[in-house]
Amino acid sequence: MSLRHDTEAFDAFCKRYESEEDCIVALYNAKWPNGFRCPNCQCHHAYLISTRRLPLYECYSCKKQTSLIKGTIMEGSRTSLRLWLRAIHLHARSNSINALQLSNLLEVTYKTAWLICHKIRYAMRQADSMILLAGIVRVTDAICYKRLTSTFELHKQEQPLLIGASGSEDGNIGYLKIEHQSKMSLRDKYDCPNPKPFILKHVDPRFSENVIITRRFGKTMNKALVWESHYLSSWMGRMFRGIGPKHLQAYINQYCYHSNHPSVGRFGILLIDSAIAHTITYPALTGRPITHRSLNRSRVAWRSQKAI
Ligand SMILES: [Zn+2]
Repeated sequence: MSLRHDTEAFDAFCKRYESEEDCIVALYNAKWPNGFRCPNCQCHHAYLISTRRLPLYECYSCKKQTSLIKGTIMEGSRTSLRLWLRAIHLHARSNSINALQLSNLLEVTYKTAWLICHKIRYAMRQADSMILLAGIVRVTDAICYKRLTSTFELHKQEQPLLIGASGSEDGNIGYLKIEHQSKMSLRDKYDCPNPKPFILKHVDPRFSENVIITRRFGKTMNKALVWESHYLSSWMGRMFRGIGPKHLQAYINQYCYHSNHPSVGRFGILLIDSAIAHTITYPALTGRPITHRSLNRSRVAWRSQKAI
């Protein structure tokens, strides 16, 4: 998709979801497609309390109150639904968006944009983790950010991967799973990560005996799977200027989500997935509490990386 098409689509989206009320209706329908359901007792009837910024629902039966954003990735956020929906739309686009671009476009701080991006990726991860690979499943090792070096050691930027996909007899890729692997488990760059934990986690047990394991080189190489690592590296380099190992899996999850859900209708699916996914906090994402100093440091690092 061209930049012009993306801009036109975004403008049309902003017009369609112009008011907070429009977004409340969209999120309500995504969260409760069959009408309100109390998270405590499953009752379908509630009193509406509309004196808050977002509507509050009091269960007719158990009297428990629940907000529209409770139990969604937006839980605890003070950002308007209008901006959240725009961020979800931008993440559903094939080109996606990075945190700095989102910060500029939505006119929010880098801290807010960074958290929104990661919360949306977290929803993608939760949704895709519910689906296991089945049928003809192929698994290969691969390398992210592959470098042409003559040593036996992995370059410091190279990251080992396992890639698995369900597919057809002709080798076309169906559902895709990619997992970042630890370098510690490898003897050298030609060693293969142990595929057993990957298969246990991502393959339907009824098909685990029939998994075809291939290598990223040699006679057994599955080109379609290995090329996924090149596409992934290229997308991350172009869009995010490269990602370090700490958060690599989150970006890989986004890449897989895009591969697993066609671009047409992806916003609607991502909105539903965001409406039923638990949120994740900044400390859980980074392993440290929020401080203005740490976020400013991240921003400066991103900018200097961009300037190289
Ligand atoms: Zn209830």
